[in-house]
Amino acid sequence: MSSNCNNRAMILAVDDEAIQLEVIKGALNAHYQVITTTSPQQALVLAEQYTPDIVLLDIDMPEINGFDLCRLLQKIPALLSTSFVFITSHHDAEIEVEALELGAVDFITKPIHTNVCLMRIKNQMVIRQQAESVKEALNQTHAEKTHLQTILRSIGDGVVATDINKKITFINPVAQRLTGFLASEAIGNAITDILKLNYSSNSSTALAPLDIAMSQKRVITMSLDIELCSRSGKQYQIELTASPLFDIENVNLIGGVLAFQNISDVVAMANQMTHLANHDHLTGLPNRVSLNNQLKQEVARARHTNHLVAVLMFDIDNFKYLNDTIGHNKGDEVIKTVANRLQMVCNDTTIISRVGGDEFVVLLVDCAGHDQINKIASQIFEEISKPFDVLEERYRLTMSMGISIYPSDANTADDLIRHADTAMFKVKSEGRNAHAFYNETLSDELRERVNIEKLLHQRLDENALIIHYQPKYSLTTGAISGVEALVRMLGHEEQLIPPDQFISVAEKSNLIQLLGEQVLTKSCLQVKKWLDGGVKMGVAVNIGASQFNAPGFVALIANTLQKCDIPPHLLELEITESALLQNVVNANKTISALQSLGVTVALDDFGTGYSSLSYLRSFNFDLLKIDKAFIRDICENKQAFSIFTAIKNMAKSLNLRLVCEGIETIQQQQMLKALKCEQGQGYLFCRPLPPVDLEASFPEVFSS
Ligand code: C2E
Ligand code: MG
Ligand code: MG
Repeated sequence: MSSNCNNRAMILAVDDEAIQLEVIKGALNAHYQVITTTSPQQALVLAEQYTPDIVLLDIDMPEINGFDLCRLLQKIPALLSTSFVFITSHHDAEIEVEALELGAVDFITKPIHTNVCLMRIKNQMVIRQQAESVKEALNQTHAEKTHLQTILRSIGDGVVATDINKKITFINPVAQRLTGFLASEAIGNAITDILKLNYSSNSSTALAPLDIAMSQKRVITMSLDIELCSRSGKQYQIELTASPLFDIENVNLIGGVLAFQNISDVVAMANQMTHLANHDHLTGLPNRVSLNNQLKQEVARARHTNHLVAVLMFDIDNFKYLNDTIGHNKGDEVIKTVANRLQMVCNDTTIISRVGGDEFVVLLVDCAGHDQINKIASQIFEEISKPFDVLEERYRLTMSMGISIYPSDANTADDLIRHADTAMFKVKSEGRNAHAFYNETLSDELRERVNIEKLLHQRLDENALIIHYQPKYSLTTGAISGVEALVRMLGHEEQLIPPDQFISVAEKSNLIQLLGEQVLTKSCLQVKKWLDGGVKMGVAVNIGASQFNAPGFVALIANTLQKCDIPPHLLELEITESALLQNVVNANKTISALQSLGVTVALDDFGTGYSSLSYLRSFNFDLLKIDKAFIRDICENKQAFSIFTAIKNMAKSLNLRLVCEGIETIQQQQMLKALKCEQGQGYLFCRPLPPVDLEASFPEVFSS
């Protein structure tokens, strides 16, 4: 409808009689914008200029009659939707027909009756408005339809629509691609001929989802186990929704729609993730998660069958060192070989899993008794003891195994695993390369160990370890020649826990590095404190085996000396034989490097380990500390006396200074003095003491 300044509809009236135009104006002016002309030429101009909604045309005009003018006006594109009403004094039908053929919508007869004229025009206006609304609605519907079609064509889901007879009426490009049928091939065919659905688990034909949706008049979803078989035989895992389609009143069923999604990739990924979550990536064996589940199931089953379930947990002894030596890639290969060899031992009643780096668990289900368990354990040991060839070297491995049994040891999967672990721990602490069955007392030991480890963590975090110092003294003069730093840990009840109770825990849990660093720094700072007070007091610090063998140990010593600002000759390091066993060549290199720094290196607890006297020759120590076990018996036991003198003589021949530990009695002291031993250490002279007490006990030394 044409727009004009006051938004009122516009009427153009053309009549050669001006009087008629006045009548028309009088009739319409109050409601519409009316422009009039007596000239057909001007009418053409005005029409083009104002685009009237309705043109009132007198049929009988002298220059050009109304019909011809109408034809001319209709040629103006802007007037495409303009309505033409003729003003006529004729009453014959021919004229009316001609007018209607020309597209006239109504007639007004002369003489013009103003009310009739207004009513006619008003009616036309209503008709025009309704036509406009219909047009708008149609446009909107068309736009929506196009929009929906675009969506259906472009969404990632397959969409197929059918009529009431389940013949396809629409199929979008995704559905065409997945089924392998073009729209032109699919439309008109039964949906079951185009969309072939199977159950993926057994490949049988799936229930037709659209049949169900249409017969039950509800939406149904099938999300599991459905496979679409394409025209070429390709299988897709799909998830689908079938919906009934109702007519516009939502009453009568007119067809159905099936929407489906290709979830093959998602399913494949989910399967892979489930596998990864349950299996060890290196060996492909079930992992700890899977083991727990299987063990739970087996325990539940064994409750009914009255069979035993045995958990055999083991790890490779010192695998860490092997890994460090041959590199992690080769280490992985060894683990894979172990897994393969285990599989040879195992049969239907065994489940193998890898639960940690070098840690495996074998479950024996439906197990008859200890004999069978021992047999399998021996077979596993035999397999593992066969040599492993890596990088042209031949390695032999041993392992430690702990075994727990349902129902005698525990009733739950968690407890069974925990107990097997405890038994394995026991084997490890008793020298490895063996298997042991769990028993009650083991658990207490482990609990104790765990508590100690927790406390040690805490004390290390707080840097709160306590150091006591025990003097070493000259057996000839009684003068203090240095002190040994001996670590203690404060317990929860403020009691002092001795190192024997936590050093081995620290070694096993890798806390020994940090412990060693803290003791070293604290001891050197104490030396510095004494030094600043004018007292030159050397300190001997005990070094754990793995601390000594760790890379960067020599640098750590050098840094600590520098950091604490003390001369190297005031530091002595005591190492035990176990530190030397791992690698003789490296140990000697480390000892020499330490000596080059100016630090003294002592072999502690000599005589308690494996070393023969000749073994001692391989190392270039400065000092030897004979273990207190020899001193204890020296006065009563002839054998102890002769071993002691042999050690002493050899130390002399190797130019090693000697310190006798654990002197508790005057007799022992006198005996050692008579044997011309130079230095001693023991409760007789002084117990290990906190620095303040030590200083108070020896004012002549510390208050200079
Ligand atoms: P060790 O290095 O042989 O230290 C001597 C041990 O003998 C100390 O025990 C000391 O208190 C004890 N002792 C001294 N005189 C006598 C005596 O006359 N009779 C008896 N029966 N014992 C005596 P402690 O302090 O309990 O230390 C035990 C072991 O713990 C030490 O033996 C050492 O191997 C280790 N240790 C102590 N502190 C550290 C440390 O900071 N790091 C490391 N890695 N080990 C440490
Ligand atoms: Mg010592
Ligand atoms: Mg010692």
